[in-house]
Amino acid sequence: MNNNGFIVYIIGTTASGKTNLSLNLGIDNYEIISCDSMQIYKDANIMTAKATAAEQMFKKHHGIDLIDLESEGFNRKQWKNMTIQKIEQLQSKGKIPVLVGGTNYYIESILFNQEKEEQQVVQAAELNLNGKEPYEYLKQIDPLAAEKFHPNDHRRINNSIKYYFNTGQLPSEQLDHHSDQCQLRSNNFLILWPKWKKKEDLKIKVTERIHQMLHQGGTEEILKIFERLENKKNQIGGVLQSIGYRQFDKVYEYYKQSGLQFPYVDEKFQELLKEGAEKLIDDTMAYTKRQIQWIKNRMLCNSKIDIIANRLFQLEFESDQTFKEQVIVPAQKIYSLFCQLYLEEKLGQEKLNINFQNLNFISIITPEMIKKYQQTQKLKSRTNWKKEVCELCNKIMNGPFEIEQHFKSRYHKNNVQKNVQLQKKKQKID
Ligand SMILES: [Zn+2]
Repeated sequence: MNNNGFIVYIIGTTASGKTNLSLNLGIDNYEIISCDSMQIYKDANIMTAKATAAEQMFKKHHGIDLIDLESEGFNRKQWKNMTIQKIEQLQSKGKIPVLVGGTNYYIESILFNQEKEEQQVVQAAELNLNGKEPYEYLKQIDPLAAEKFHPNDHRRINNSIKYYFNTGQLPSEQLDHHSDQCQLRSNNFLILWPKWKKKEDLKIKVTERIHQMLHQGGTEEILKIFERLENKKNQIGGVLQSIGYRQFDKVYEYYKQSGLQFPYVDEKFQELLKEGAEKLIDDTMAYTKRQIQWIKNRMLCNSKIDIIANRLFQLEFESDQTFKEQVIVPAQKIYSLFCQLYLEEKLGQEKLNINFQNLNFISIITPEMIKKYQQTQKLKSRTNWKKEVCELCNKIMNGPFEIEQHFKSRYHKNNVQKNVQLQKKKQKID
């Protein structure tokens, strides 16, 4: 993507009002591009929370219904290419693309320039390691590099080995120069992040929404999709393995065995459906946690602080009733301000400083807050791994974060206390 047009992103967890916000930005000069790895499938509508027909009538949507349920091997690169094409198309018509979705893996392929990173990603299977586990192999060729990685950090481990294969140089020699910062594609963007103030309320909303989806056609949709993909059950990365469907495999199994005809089902079916719903709620909540982590780790910590801090707005809300006042109204003001800044060619400037005085009704993410995040992240950072042993507890710790956690832990403190008592006893005996 060579152009430098204005792009808006609406990010955040599942069930946090992204769709609602995307339909209500005020000025009618934009179209929506969905960034959701589930909504790309045709006929998977309800459990993927795809925009309804009415919503699609109200605002033009792209990025949905791209492929058949049976399709295999659709990957992020294809998605990215299609989306970039769409973005350019909209911009050439004078429309602003508003990218909305929870698949952060997709969003970052547009927000960041990842050409380099993409070239580096290799599968362990591609490497011929003489039957050794990648981590063991790395330890053998370059112990210094292995020391710095967590054994589970497969991506970095594989990339290091690949680097060694390609260049013949030791990965540890390049580690120090390696920066993990993601390169922003352009400064002409705005990110809106609606967020539930309380996690408990998000869980209530997720629960409510899942039950609603299942009751309003979702159950039937699940059964139909399982039926259609009957002989593609083990397809990797297909819709059956995604959140919203995979939790219900037992329901379908029983449905098929028992010869029931939906909607005429029995108690056992209801029971399994309930179990599936509970599993889905748990999995969705775990997913929302990862979504937030991504925003913090990749967006806040891996890009230039001042550029992000002046372009990312977290809009916290307390309930459905206050969503309009706490999210939609401020977002409309910000959106209109940013459209103006873009027209005046001020948005692209690195030194842009939003006058926070005019926006003091929203909780701003300040550069200071980001710096604090970054410090915590640095402690956790896997490039900083250094192993240390607590002899008292006989425990090996990876990196400064684990070390700090361990010395603060009750387990360690108990062992210290036990040790003190042991020493006292010894002294008495002596
Ligand atoms: Zn210890």
